[in-house]
Amino acid sequence: MQHPVIEMHSRVADAAHLLGRVHSFETCGTVDGPGTRFVVFLQGCMFRCQYCHNRDTWEMDEGKLYSVTDVLTEILPYIPFIDASNGGVTVSGGEPLLQKQFVRVLFKLLHQQGIHTCLDTNGYVPDAGYDEELEKLMSCTDLVLLDIKHINDQKHLQLTRVTNQYTLKFADYLHSCGKPVWIRYVVVPGLTDAEADVEQLAESVGHMNNVEKVELLPYHTLGAHKWVAYDECYPLAGVVPPSAEKIAALKAIFEKYDINVLA
Ligand code: SF4
Repeated sequence: MQHPVIEMHSRVADAAHLLGRVHSFETCGTVDGPGTRFVVFLQGCMFRCQYCHNRDTWEMDEGKLYSVTDVLTEILPYIPFIDASNGGVTVSGGEPLLQKQFVRVLFKLLHQQGIHTCLDTNGYVPDAGYDEELEKLMSCTDLVLLDIKHINDQKHLQLTRVTNQYTLKFADYLHSCGKPVWIRYVVVPGLTDAEADVEQLAESVGHMNNVEKVELLPYHTLGAHKWVAYDECYPLAGVVPPSAEKIAALKAIFEKYDINVLA
């Protein structure tokens, strides 16, 4: 007997042949959504975050082409682990919204099998991207991990080379849809750890009743070597991870606004 995920391929064969650019897979992720996750990292990103630990996801023409069927075939052996942990599948990047049709078809097929779907995004959606395709994608997305890089636009530009208006507009959109969201915020000493900025972020998030929690992610240098591979200087060389005391202080700011914080 065919596995139900394979059976459904024949019913939606055309859509499942859609191609996407994939950077890599992580088979048993535990930090990108609830439970054990199969994580699909898609290729391509418009941001240029100074702390990016996935420098090799930026270019749209790198990575490897996979059909949705190919990706489902990769996921299939891990479904028992996903089921046993109330986990699911997370699509990350890079920036997955740059390939939203591919993600939508993948999520739709996963959803039809009752598999939890999660989108890890920086919210980069140009105005023209608020279309039917996005609505369809949201209808089969259970949870959004929204990365807010900085609440101050000038500092956001300095950090990512892109305005934060895309991210903040997408946050408003998710709020208006009532979509469950976890906000992620990377704490980088000297760049994103000013308490006044975090207070402004907490105040803003405090108005979003669709936000289930905020994750404070201490900056780390694990991806620095990838910049070297591109013959580029790692912009944050010499910056050390934040102290436990700093993380605790920032956590307390969110808690003032009754926001559930994981740090
Ligand atoms: S949004 Fe993510 S993948 Fe893109 S540059 Fe920033 S950290 Fe890297």
